[in-house]
Amino acid sequence: MEAIEKDILRGGQFLVKETKCEDVFTPEDFSEEQKMMKEAVMEFNDREIIAHKDRFEAKDYALTEEVMRKAGELGFLGVAVPEAYGGLGMGFVSTCLTCDYISSGTGSFSTAFGAHTGIGTMPITLYGTEEQKQKYVPKLATGEWFGAYCLTEPGAGSDANSGKTTAELTEDGKAYKINGQKMWISNAGFCSLMIVFARIEDDKNITGFIVEYDPENPNGIVLGEEEHKLGIRASSTRQVFFNDTVVPVENMLAGRGEGFKIAMNALNVGRIKLAAACLDSQRRILTTAVNYANERKQFKTPIADFGAIKMKLAKMAADAYAGESATYRAAKNIEDRIAIREAAGNSHQEAELKGVEEYAIECSILKVAVSEDVQNCADEGIQIFGGMGFSEETPMEAAWRDARIARIYEGTNEINRMLSVGMLVKKAMKGHVDLLGPAKAVQEELMGIPSFDTPDYSELFSEEKEMVAKLKKVFLMVAGAAVQKFGPEMEKHQQLLIAAADILIEIYMAESAILRTEKNAKRYGEDAQSVQIAMSKLYLYNAVNTVEDKGKESIISFAEGDEQRMMLMGLKRYTKYQNYPDIVDLRNEIAERVKAENKYCF
Ligand SMILES: Cc1cc2nc3c(=O)[nH]c(=O)nc-3n(C[C@H](O)[C@H](O)[C@H](O)COP(=O)(O)OP(=O)(O)OC[C@H]3O[C@@H](n4cnc5c(N)ncnc54)[C@H](O)[C@@H]3O)c2cc1C
Repeated sequence: MEAIEKDILRGGQFLVKETKCEDVFTPEDFSEEQKMMKEAVMEFNDREIIAHKDRFEAKDYALTEEVMRKAGELGFLGVAVPEAYGGLGMGFVSTCLTCDYISSGTGSFSTAFGAHTGIGTMPITLYGTEEQKQKYVPKLATGEWFGAYCLTEPGAGSDANSGKTTAELTEDGKAYKINGQKMWISNAGFCSLMIVFARIEDDKNITGFIVEYDPENPNGIVLGEEEHKLGIRASSTRQVFFNDTVVPVENMLAGRGEGFKIAMNALNVGRIKLAAACLDSQRRILTTAVNYANERKQFKTPIADFGAIKMKLAKMAADAYAGESATYRAAKNIEDRIAIREAAGNSHQEAELKGVEEYAIECSILKVAVSEDVQNCADEGIQIFGGMGFSEETPMEAAWRDARIARIYEGTNEINRMLSVGMLVKKAMKGHVDLLGPAKAVQEELMGIPSFDTPDYSELFSEEKEMVAKLKKVFLMVAGAAVQKFGPEMEKHQQLLIAAADILIEIYMAESAILRTEKNAKRYGEDAQSVQIAMSKLYLYNAVNTVEDKGKESIISFAEGDEQRMMLMGLKRYTKYQNYPDIVDLRNEIAERVKAENKYCF
């Protein structure tokens, strides 16, 4: 099997091991089946979602449900579900691809779709017993039923394990009675099944339950009114109250006290899918923005010809390109890891769970990076439209409002930033990723005399790849010294963790863009990839600036005297290009292509 022959990196190892461009999966590697799926989903999005955009903006919740039902009929809700349970069983890349291309019409649908297929269905496919899977998953995969996920409570948001909802065993021992209040529950208004987390007695950890919901026979379940939200206006979001809701014991998910683990793992999967779900929005925002910029004239000139607009178009394109590159790279790593585990005898369920868990760091990185890119993209989209961008008559303001939620749910971006670094440090402690060795090597390098040889940069990306390697050294230098200084107390130094996460994020995103382009330049030729080369270089340049900024902030926050001076010198050395790219030229090249094609065309 191809996946087994390839020596794929483990989660987090991208930081300390070199990845060859041949070993990354790119959107240009989509199979014929995946391309067909992409076409089908895009067509569905145009016909069923974009054509009715104004109805979604007018809070037409019934439309969201109706389109979800149609998505079910076409199989889109079951892409990730094994065939044995009524799904298409298409693999992780196809799952991400579907999330990607179905999500750009409106955040309302994309949230309903994500909540149902991800956190509403996955806990059962990943943790359910055979009976639970047979009973519920086919209904969810086909859209006969819709799922919701009830974790958050008024007093338990980011601190998800602190919920007060209780589950009490009935006297006959046959059922649990659930009591409590959940809030911000997506799909609550039209779901037939809820994954509910509740605490049994004084357990340390919460427990997951599958709870059926039939409005005709509500079983103590009361829904609050629809929340009126900044964006995703036709996504149903309600409070859910449980009053002695009776749930048979056989509806417990995994074991007692396993709920927190389920909640966290479901979110891991959700995070990469959410990143995917922010990609096509960026493509569409850029396309709409360049359409406008080519048409709109000021000072007798199309505004697309102004440098100030070109720099926006170029950055929007480069960020979207890096997001695609990194998301599909990680998606394929997960798919391969699942295949490796299945070949080693794990059940699909176990393999999928472990496969996603393995790349939890990358999932958090992607969630943060792409949710912020889509927000920035929409923000610049508004700016390109000028006053019209602020009007409800153009699509930019809704895109901006809808994008805003992605930074909050599936774990806020603050929590995900801290998680990414925290998980990496834990992996290092467990010996799964060797950070210590490389961190020591960086320390030694800093003590030594730098080489003054003139390197040969004639090969494509040789300097850029060296820059990425140097950025990795910055992370190792900063995180290594911080761990040495603070040990387990490091988690209390949140601003440091966040700065380190920003460095980690930029490394992964920049490297992914470069590797994708390098792979494509080898097969299609450098001329055919000239704009992709420019986007990769532009992304890296911006990444280097962020790393320099965050590196400096970190170093001066915890190092003093000689140590500080040495680290700042190291930072300078590791963020210095031998030959600085002409950023204005790069931006112009990218913008000219986008202008000429009048769309995001990569
Ligand atoms: C539209 C929408 C749909 C949603 N859908 C669902 C759903 O379907 N199911 C569900 O269960 N939940 C859902 N949620 C809830 C969502 O997951 C939470 O809002 C989110 O996890 C944050 O929790 P919170 O709102 O309580 O914010 P808080 O946890 O109170 O956070 C507030 C701020 O404090 C920061 N913060 C919190 N803890 C820390 C910390 N330890 N260190 C540093 N900073 C911290 C956060 O990053 C944030 O900036 C939804 C929310 C919205 C708005």
